[in-house]
Amino acid sequence: MPTCTEEGCDRQATVELHIPWAANRVVCLAHARSWSQKDGVVADPLDEADEELP
Ligand SMILES: [Zn+2]
Repeated sequence: MPTCTEEGCDRQATVELHIPWAANRVVCLAHARSWSQKDGVVADPLDEADEELP
């Protein structure tokens, strides 16, 4: 599993953020909550992406 990309945070990343003014990044749930309060940011749970079959 990826690790949160926020500086100083080493929790497991469970959410992908789609940020209109920056590259996508993966973050933990706590950071996803604060990011999703910003205009235009979409938080996408990583678990759903893991459902693809091999
Ligand atoms: Zn984090």
